[in-house]
Amino acid sequence: MGKPEQTPTRWGLPFPRSGPKSLLQRTLNQKYPGGRVPGTLLLALLLTATTHAQTSAQSATTTPGSQADQQRVQKLDTLKSPSKDDLLRGAYGPFRANNDLLSYALKLRVDPEAHFIKGTNTVRFRMLQDGDRIQLDLTPELTIDSITLNSKPLNYTREERAIYIDFPEPLHKDQTYAVAIAYSGHPVKQGRFGCFTFNHDAAGKPWITTACEEEGASTWWPNKDQWRDEPQEGMTLTIQVPNGLTDVSNGRFEGSQDLGDGYTEWRWHVHYPINNYDVALNIGNYGHFTAPKHGETTLDYYALPEDLDKAKLQFGQVPEMLDAYEHYFGEYPFDEDGYKLIEVPYAGMEHQSAVAYGNHFTNGYYGRDWTGVGISLKFDFIIIHESGHEWFGNAITAQDRADMWIHEGWTTYLETLYVEYRWGRADALRYTDGLKPKVQNQRPIIPPYNTNAEPPQDQYFKGALMINTLRSVINDDPKWFADIHDFYQAFKYQTITTDQVIAWWNARTGLNLTPFFNQYLRHADIPRLELRFPPDRKSVHYRWNADEPAFAMPVNVGDPQHWTRISPVTSEWRTMPLSGSIEDFKVDTDHFFVGTKEIMQAGQ
Ligand SMILES: [Zn+2]
Repeated sequence: MGKPEQTPTRWGLPFPRSGPKSLLQRTLNQKYPGGRVPGTLLLALLLTATTHAQTSAQSATTTPGSQADQQRVQKLDTLKSPSKDDLLRGAYGPFRANNDLLSYALKLRVDPEAHFIKGTNTVRFRMLQDGDRIQLDLTPELTIDSITLNSKPLNYTREERAIYIDFPEPLHKDQTYAVAIAYSGHPVKQGRFGCFTFNHDAAGKPWITTACEEEGASTWWPNKDQWRDEPQEGMTLTIQVPNGLTDVSNGRFEGSQDLGDGYTEWRWHVHYPINNYDVALNIGNYGHFTAPKHGETTLDYYALPEDLDKAKLQFGQVPEMLDAYEHYFGEYPFDEDGYKLIEVPYAGMEHQSAVAYGNHFTNGYYGRDWTGVGISLKFDFIIIHESGHEWFGNAITAQDRADMWIHEGWTTYLETLYVEYRWGRADALRYTDGLKPKVQNQRPIIPPYNTNAEPPQDQYFKGALMINTLRSVINDDPKWFADIHDFYQAFKYQTITTDQVIAWWNARTGLNLTPFFNQYLRHADIPRLELRFPPDRKSVHYRWNADEPAFAMPVNVGDPQHWTRISPVTSEWRTMPLSGSIEDFKVDTDHFFVGTKEIMQAGQ
């Protein structure tokens, strides 16, 4: 999801809630994210910290719509206590765990005039154990017209968005079943991207889109609304819209048919497992064009008539994007479904094989150099970021929303790889450095599991900086590129956990990277390298200050022309000779995302 662009950090607000002291500390971290803070500058920094922070943040991340943005900031930066609905949505309880999804068949009629939808989702699943109840989900704002098994009505109860469906006879382990949920109602516009919106284009024609990662797919269609279980045989979408409109959904287009009652039916077939939040409707007066196949990948583009010429130019970036990501990770993962870009009236979203695009056909983010280092305007952020999610987020999905850094941290890192592929490592490092001012270090990237808790914005930038740091730990680029390729391939088409990620990297490298991942993902603070210079200035003592006692990451220090790799630990000071002056002693913060703290000893 392209969240960060419309999400100013708290710097844009008048007073950070965490108070002036931590504001200063964060400013020091940002201004000197790994370099030393000269002691003599401390007072000056104290006086200028607030100004610096607010100025840089505003230029970096503020976008129009400040009221909505500020509401979102509250949600992003603060871990809110879970509601009853969050707990029902976030838990993988017994009536979810007793079955395994096989496929969805969603058939839906959309009435733009009445803002009304009516349809059926048929859910096929296999029982993993005997049982007489399963849980599906649908927002209480929509009406369930019936739930049937083999055309026989079933009893059910509703609690928040959960639907508990009861069967008169127990369902049997390893048997497959299909339950049809007929439903209808007026979907509610909500959230940053509107979730389900009945818009109009400039010509007054209906323009209806969905984007519900945060709010949950069950805001508009009944499904098993969690991330762990995806329908392994895919799904079909059969969408009826008034004649003259087109529906573009996920998967391969299989045909359309005039139903003779003023509506046309559009049929799409998804051939892969899919996240429920990726399932999308895009209904409008779309024009369609194609580009030559990229390898085995068909390229289909949809834009409003007045934007087709702009789209034909801007979407020319797609083959370069595919070249880069296929180079690092392997072929585009959804060739049976093809790759599509679809114009939408919001920023963008990684809907699987049907990427939503709303970046105004400009480079950067809405035309802004949003990382502030002169790289962002070289490419279209939405094409590059949202398409990166086809590899991380869609082909590989986190099982629990708390592990969403697997989507956003990796995809933000993919942006840096895209820069490296196109313009080289130096630009990639500059782009990566441009992420640092966005890091807040206010709470851990991973919030509590099973509660539908939203990770902080740090999942993007700090997540990518952590992965870049891991590359420096491995310190062997050919090996690194083989590692990330094989990591992706090992988990392609699966839903996974952070623990699985850590276990894979530990096995692959033979290193104990658990404290490394835990420090960056499960604590608010980044590791800090403490440096102590004795009065004779002939040596330097060093150790890690970290929350993880076993944190022992190697790091480069000394002369940037000839880095010295040292191995600090948290439990003791270690010592290296100091050949040059203290002022020339650097920490390699381009390659390692760490803080530093310099301790001058008496006599200086
Ligand atoms: Zn994203």
